[in-house]
Amino acid sequence: MSTPQQEKANKTIYRIRSVVPETPDTATLELVRADGGAVPDFAPGQYNMVHVNNVGAAAMAICVHPDAPDVLLHTVRAVGRVTEALCGLDAGAEITVSGPFGAGWPLEPAEENDVVIVAGGIGLAPMRPLVHALIRQRERYGHTTVLYGARTPEDILYRKELERWRGRFDMEVLVTVDRASRDWHGPVGVFTNLIPRAPFDPYYAVAYIAGPEVMMTYAVEALHRRGVRKDWQFVYMQRDLKRGVREIATCDAEKSGLTGPVFRFDEVEQFLAARE
Ligand SMILES: Cc1cc2nc3c(=O)[nH]c(=O)nc-3n(C[C@H](O)[C@H](O)[C@H](O)COP(=O)(O)OP(=O)(O)OC[C@H]3O[C@@H](n4cnc5c(N)ncnc54)[C@H](O)[C@@H]3O)c2cc1C
Repeated sequence: MSTPQQEKANKTIYRIRSVVPETPDTATLELVRADGGAVPDFAPGQYNMVHVNNVGAAAMAICVHPDAPDVLLHTVRAVGRVTEALCGLDAGAEITVSGPFGAGWPLEPAEENDVVIVAGGIGLAPMRPLVHALIRQRERYGHTTVLYGARTPEDILYRKELERWRGRFDMEVLVTVDRASRDWHGPVGVFTNLIPRAPFDPYYAVAYIAGPEVMMTYAVEALHRRGVRKDWQFVYMQRDLKRGVREIATCDAEKSGLTGPVFRFDEVEQFLAARE
């Protein structure tokens, strides 16, 4: 996590270029720097602190559009004070952003191995720049599978982008919903049902997982049952990061400079089990 000093040091004002509705409670803010500057370099999985005047700040996974790297994208799910305020802003409004912070997804373990990406709900946000990075250097990585679970078809994020990824010959995209509507013809049920049918070599696969903590634990277990090593699985701690890191530091999992939000699963397994 960042220190308050770091946060203060690199605050930048961004102007909202547009607000793209994604689902009933989620929108993507397309942001450009008010001073016309470039979006700072970031690693997939890193996050910004996004500040709303007189309300507060929230951590948000960083993304840029691959064809427009000067447009910063933050997908915001309205769950409380700050996120509701962010979703209520209109084009032209200005917000303050600091970052990038945190450890991103480690890409080296995926080189020459198959890649399995498992995301639930808003967990797809930190996966988007990861998928962009894999596509940019496609030859370095093996077969890539994206498994995504949403509550209902209306809650599916980035529909067009998922369809584009699915249209590639070198990528598998499987989407499941908890509850279907009539016009949904895809899988229904828990995403763990998708794991046995996903086309990857479990003995040479690296997994990246983001979503609610219980979902991540089930995902790791299901992948492990199929043969994926736990120390080749990486999880994104999107909830309660500050408290979580403090607990990890004191529960002996490792006092080794864990910063998050990405952790190797076996480093935080004890903490996740305790929380459950
Ligand atoms: C590294 C990181 C990256 C994140 N990236 C994104 C992102 O890209 N998009 C996005 O929408 N959100 C993201 N989040 C979650 C987001 O930061 C929180 O939802 C936000 O801080 C909530 O603030 P609030 O003031 O709106 O809600 P609050 O008023 O603080 O809380 C309202 C309710 O939401 C619950 N809540 C608070 N924080 C969380 C949380 N982190 N997860 C689940 N429930 C929570 C509270 O228990 C409470 O019930 C990320 C979090 C982390 C740590």
